[in-house]
Amino acid sequence: TNRCTSAMGILRDFKDKSDTPISKLRQVADAMTVEMHAGLASEGASKLKMIISYVNNLPTGDEHGIFYALDLGGTNFRVLRVQLGGEEGNVGEPEFEEVSIPSNLMTGTSQDLFDYIAKALAKFISTEGENFRLSDGRQRELGFTFSFPVKQMSIASGTLIKWTKGFSIDGTVGKDVVTELTDALERQGVDMRVAALVNDTIGTLAGGRYENNNVVAAVILGTGTNAAYVERANAIPKWQGLLPKSGEMVINMEWGNFKSAHLPTTEYDIALDCDSLNPGEQIYEKLISGMYLGEIARRILLKMAREAALFGDVVPSKLETPFTLRTPEMSAMHQDSSSDLKVVGTKLKDTLGITSTSFRTRVIVVEVCDAIAKRGARLAAAGILGILKKMGRDTVVGKESGEIQKTVIAMDGGLYEHYTAFSKCLEDTLEELLGKEVSNCVDIVHANDGSGIGAALLAASHSQYL
Ligand code: ADP
Ligand code: MG
Repeated sequence: TNRCTSAMGILRDFKDKSDTPISKLRQVADAMTVEMHAGLASEGASKLKMIISYVNNLPTGDEHGIFYALDLGGTNFRVLRVQLGGEEGNVGEPEFEEVSIPSNLMTGTSQDLFDYIAKALAKFISTEGENFRLSDGRQRELGFTFSFPVKQMSIASGTLIKWTKGFSIDGTVGKDVVTELTDALERQGVDMRVAALVNDTIGTLAGGRYENNNVVAAVILGTGTNAAYVERANAIPKWQGLLPKSGEMVINMEWGNFKSAHLPTTEYDIALDCDSLNPGEQIYEKLISGMYLGEIARRILLKMAREAALFGDVVPSKLETPFTLRTPEMSAMHQDSSSDLKVVGTKLKDTLGITSTSFRTRVIVVEVCDAIAKRGARLAAAGILGILKKMGRDTVVGKESGEIQKTVIAMDGGLYEHYTAFSKCLEDTLEELLGKEVSNCVDIVHANDGSGIGAALLAASHSQYL
């Protein structure tokens, strides 16, 4: 029908403007590499902060003892306790608790947020069994995964640069988040030392390395997106300190803030950015991550409803409300394998109040999701190619032994984990970019909850009792 034809026009227009041919992805990858160099050269020289993490040794496997981790970085936060170096020298089964962050706390005060977290930790500790008693006089130690841009000052201190991912709390920017947490723990009567402040990418890299010696980079695809990798310490001109013995330094790229004229942005992306809590910031993240993909889809469908009456003469009111269509719903529609696209029908009804959609309408909705996910996944693959280029791992590399060097990238995050069409497209695109021979040497592994265990491992290697 007419409706569909004119909606198809809107879809075609989006596809044209969001197109990511391989040639474009190579330009994005090269721009990423250039920005990485700039960000390492001097502070503030690039949109990429290339933050020095103060992690210059990744886990070796010798870590042992009971350690805690706290992961704050998006919609939920998690507390975790793990016994390292157990019987077989392995990580014991971690125990954890996940708590969702009430949305009012995401835009409230710093003290309220940290008190809420400290209370959850207090509760977690108060219910632990006898076998978790530390030896007398020994203080509990924690790895704090805080996944927002932090200007790190040491392994256990760092000031917040800015909030992202829907957080906007007055008075935290410029403060040391470890002090904020430590003060809150004290107010709640919890005797615990923050031994390491890391970001989810660093935690995932550490957890990934513990499992696999060839892990050299980590990528997070969750509510937001970010990456970290192992850099040669002497390739970081802005680093003023002594060169670490290992000769290496882990860099938290904060790649979500990457921006380039090569990024295929559309009218929908520009409007989304404009209406966001952080206009002009996190442009790459807004094209890729879980917080935004569903919202881009909503904006395209809204245009189709308004200009092509795709869902009938009345524009569904829920479709006009920002963030009503979340990425998990988008992914469920996109991956609907039923012959009549039943899931698409139910999701449209349940999340947007759109009843009785025709098959052709559902097909268009699926295509909208496909185009958005494809762009995000392909751009993420281009970013990874940029990192591999910077590390000199975009060609076949030999070891001294003559063996071929494997390159392993640890991935984590709800988007990567649950949105299979997205992760498969990312992996296929990376393979296409690298070519068969090189891509045989590059593996992507899912570091399941690498960030929690990784933070505990880093707390252990920075323990006050070593
Ligand atoms: P965070 O990034 O907040 O630390 P996660 O790594 O668990 O947490 O990622 C959660 C995000 O993953 C959600 O905000 C959502 O965007 C995305 N996500 C979760 N489930 C799905 C799903 N089934 N399909 C697509 N995306 C999902
Ligand atoms: Mg996370």
